[in-house]
Amino acid sequence: SRQSIAIDGPAGAGKSTVARELARRLGWLYIDTGAMYRAITLKALRRGLNLKDEKSLEALARESRIEMTTDPGYATRIYLDGEDVTRAIREPEVSRHVSLVARLPGVREVMVHRQREMAESKNVIMDGRDVGTVVLPDAGLKIFLTASPEARARRRQQDLQAQGHHVPLDLLIREIAERDRLDSSRPVAPLMPAPDAWVIDSSNLSVEQVVEMITARVRG
Ligand code: C5P
Repeated sequence: SRQSIAIDGPAGAGKSTVARELARRLGWLYIDTGAMYRAITLKALRRGLNLKDEKSLEALARESRIEMTTDPGYATRIYLDGEDVTRAIREPEVSRHVSLVARLPGVREVMVHRQREMAESKNVIMDGRDVGTVVLPDAGLKIFLTASPEARARRRQQDLQAQGHHVPLDLLIREIAERDRLDSSRPVAPLMPAPDAWVIDSSNLSVEQVVEMITARVRG
């Protein structure tokens, strides 16, 4: 039967970097669930929709085609209705609004259903906020990867720098704190470790160290 690893945690803890590297080593499919919420948010912003209007956001999610491809170098590309939105979904404008869209139960229902479908056909490493608690509660290994807000803001700043965005650190710390607050306090699928998750604080660990720790456990 299919195997899966769930990696959840707050923004900037290093989930996607770790998940991608694990996927590469194990030869499994990497699924970035945050990218799916970002894609819907991008589309809603482009259309000027009211982000609190659950009915229209749910309809938007339902009618949208979201695809992910992984190239041999394990870089993931995200397509929204056939358009490559890999860069567009990382724009600060999307980051600032995605938690509003992700808190709508109707939108989550559509996304969770699709995420489960993706995990049916392949061994997957899926990262997000509710993978271990909601999407794949039977995952063979559940990781909750966290780090201090300062460490996370610093990493986010470096990521953004690499994409040509220069954002001051204090602004990033504030945005991360706000996203944490929204993600942890929402009524549906709040950000929290699954009861059986392995909690890893990566504040003082490199990506390589975290990947080694997890690989050691997977290979037993
Ligand atoms: O992982 P990333 O930071 O790209 O996720 C963007 C946002 O999408 C999160 O802040 C959260 O609001 C939402 N999200 C979610 N559930 C997931 C993945 C992401 O609610 N499984």
